[in-house]
Amino acid sequence: MLGIGIDIGGTNTKLVVVNRAGKLLAHERFRTEAAKGPASFIKRLAEVVACFRRDYGRQLVSIGIGAAGDVDPERGLLRFSPNLAWRSVKLAGPLEKMTGLPCAMENDANMAAWGAYELELRRKTDDILTLTLGTGIGSGLILGGKLYHGSSGSAGEAGHLKIVPNGRACHCGGRGCLEAYCGSYAIIARARELIGNEKAFVKKFAAPGHEKLNTICLTNAAAAGHAGARRVWSETGQHLGMGLAGLILVLNPGCVVLTGGVSKARKWFLPAMRKVLGNQQIKTPFEKVKIRISDNADLGSYGAALFGLEHGLK
Ligand SMILES: [Zn+2]
Repeated sequence: MLGIGIDIGGTNTKLVVVNRAGKLLAHERFRTEAAKGPASFIKRLAEVVACFRRDYGRQLVSIGIGAAGDVDPERGLLRFSPNLAWRSVKLAGPLEKMTGLPCAMENDANMAAWGAYELELRRKTDDILTLTLGTGIGSGLILGGKLYHGSSGSAGEAGHLKIVPNGRACHCGGRGCLEAYCGSYAIIARARELIGNEKAFVKKFAAPGHEKLNTICLTNAAAAGHAGARRVWSETGQHLGMGLAGLILVLNPGCVVLTGGVSKARKWFLPAMRKVLGNQQIKTPFEKVKIRISDNADLGSYGAALFGLEHGLK
């Protein structure tokens, strides 16, 4: 049995074919081009699925979809996606009709959490919190071995936990959110305040061919001993620690998985993050929890495929 996993992002949409053990057999990607509208998008999805079916036929039994935004998993509905600028779009039903395969749909961070549960932890830990640290911060919860949706499918919006009263402006329109301190856009904004001459900084620390201020450039600078860059990362770790501390107190997870581009800077933000966690007064949940970093950039699409195999079959 093989499953198709689809990860719908603001820029690109990734599709994979994997087996039950999470082994990749085929993959495809195209530009999401959300402005062309959902109907054209679903048609392009169905075309790729048709190609996969030519190669794998009846071995393909399900589709899992992870979409960036607020998803109603029961109705297969994308209620709202700021990245795609779509509202109330039915995705799972139309794709089921066009392909004849059962579709399960979830928020993209939920699918990444399922991917972490299956592939990183091999189901050995049943209570897991996953944070995807990218431009924004997504999160997904596996509790008791099940994906936790909450009462309206919106559980896991950890990026918008308020950690600083009246703090920095967040992309959601609010202030003081975790994402407004630890999303890559926020980290770069803070770096601009601390690094001095940006042009000279970029020239010195950016990767060849990518001459702009990004988190890789900031990581290189920290490695070279730049005090401002190290301070940015240590502040990022402190804020992340504050957000995580609250989540760990509430959920008592066995493992926290951090993934996404920002997690590559682990060496520079983890010490400050661990310090905040170590300074909490209710000790037990912090002694118990393991912190894991996943460098698998495809947890979302793999997780979607595996979730579809598990839940899409009716
Ligand atoms: Zn926010």
